Amino acid sequence: MGEKFDSVVVGAGPAGISAAYTMAKAGLNTLVLERGEKPGAKNMFGGVIFRHHTEQIAPEFWKTAPVERHVVEYQYWFLSKESHLMVSHRNQRFNERYNCFTVHRAKFDPWFAKLAEDAGAIIMNRTTVDDVIEENGRIVGVKTERGEVRADVVVAADGVNSMLSKQAGLRQELPQDAVVLAVKEVIALPKQKIEERFNLGPDEGVAALLVGWGPGMHAGFMYTNRDTISVGIGVGMRDLDRSKQRPSDLFEQFKNHPSIAPLVREGELKEYSAHLIPEGGYDHVSNIFTHGMLVVGDAAMLVNAINWEGTNLAMTSGILAGQTVIEAKKKNDFSSRVLSRYRHRLEESFVLQDLKTYREAPTYFSSNPHFFTTYPEAINELAYMWHAVDDETKRAKIKRMKASLFKRRSRLRLLQDLYNVWRLFS
Ligand SMILES: Cc1cc2nc3c(=O)[nH]c(=O)nc-3n(C[C@H](O)[C@H](O)[C@H](O)COP(=O)(O)OP(=O)(O)OC[C@H]3O[C@@H](n4cnc5c(N)ncnc54)[C@H](O)[C@@H]3O)c2cc1C
Repeated sequence: MGEKFDSVVVGAGPAGISAAYTMAKAGLNTLVLERGEKPGAKNMFGGVIFRHHTEQIAPEFWKTAPVERHVVEYQYWFLSKESHLMVSHRNQRFNERYNCFTVHRAKFDPWFAKLAEDAGAIIMNRTTVDDVIEENGRIVGVKTERGEVRADVVVAADGVNSMLSKQAGLRQELPQDAVVLAVKEVIALPKQKIEERFNLGPDEGVAALLVGWGPGMHAGFMYTNRDTISVGIGVGMRDLDRSKQRPSDLFEQFKNHPSIAPLVREGELKEYSAHLIPEGGYDHVSNIFTHGMLVVGDAAMLVNAINWEGTNLAMTSGILAGQTVIEAKKKNDFSSRVLSRYRHRLEESFVLQDLKTYREAPTYFSSNPHFFTTYPEAINELAYMWHAVDDETKRAKIKRMKASLFKRRSRLRLLQDLYNVWRLFS
């Protein structure tokens, strides 16, 4: 403390470590400050990390990294109270070329942070940053309980609640409709049982998204790890407020669903955690640079909720921020004019282009909860009617099915919804 660095990174998640690795590798004197007793100690996610983006930092990382399983199947479940209809995609090509891996953040993050350390970054754990140091309209360092640290550039990688962005005047409190609360349990089961229940080979994994089980815009998720299953729900803060239900009750309701309960039966609870996800999308990514500071990852609201991607956006934004700091260092100019190159880089990358593609999706889905309630229920009812056999003629059955569907949503509304979804994803 007291020393001046080229860069100080606040937060040792995927975004902060990617930034630190990029800068340290280029020879910049880089310090990472992490409030947890080690990287990953305070972090949770679903979830999976993606091969393509993790390899930008660590080629063939799965050979040494603590990964759990590579995902070979993606499942999409539509639930009603007592049933489910599932669409899944399993592909042998995911065995030949891995796409993503389930990981536990408590194991993966320390391994990832070591890469930055090996590249020359200093990582200081158990150090909470309390404030930014601002002089003459520039951010010139941070304050911690251990003292002050000065740097040419501060990289705020402090996650969804990003105190630093607020203190630097870059953003306000998060609006309710831009944040989802996730609750998750890690449930231990013998490896073999997981493979039997999910029809998996050794090291193969499943990623599952489930909608339709709750009273609003809720989604559930399941990921198979080596000898545990991560099971959780995500609920929009506004919906949570409206429903007046406790997240823990909603989670129990989800876990006890007749289609979910058999998958976790006899499992032992290993971990219970909760975390926020910034799902507001492109319009909430506003001020992410200023004189002497860049904001990356969740702190910059870089999450693609439609494709369940966050860590890859975090890593890419960290790398692009790192490259921008390296450029600024060469020019010895840390003004917002030079640091604005970070925004340009993000705009040119998949990160902001994808968020821009789905720009209207968060508002559309939060004002149109039928996709999470009416439709899952309707398709389950139609599936039941189709499969239940009696003396009714098929013509009469199809007529009854149509009536059941259009009672829930008129033809016009249904067509409008289909058109809007098509438009949102085009
Ligand atoms: C339930 C859930 C499921 C998810 N599933 C997936 C998934 O399957 N795949 C995927 O790609 N993404 C997923 N995500 C999103 C993903 O986890 C995030 O997008 C990603 O972790 C963001 O990385 P980050 O480095 O920006 O922030 P974080 O990972 O949140 O790291 C921030 C770090 O900053 C530290 N910190 C915070 N404040 C301070 C401070 N004042 N001083 C010092 N340190 C501080 C924290 O301790 C933490 O280590 C999921 C998220 C959740 C909540």
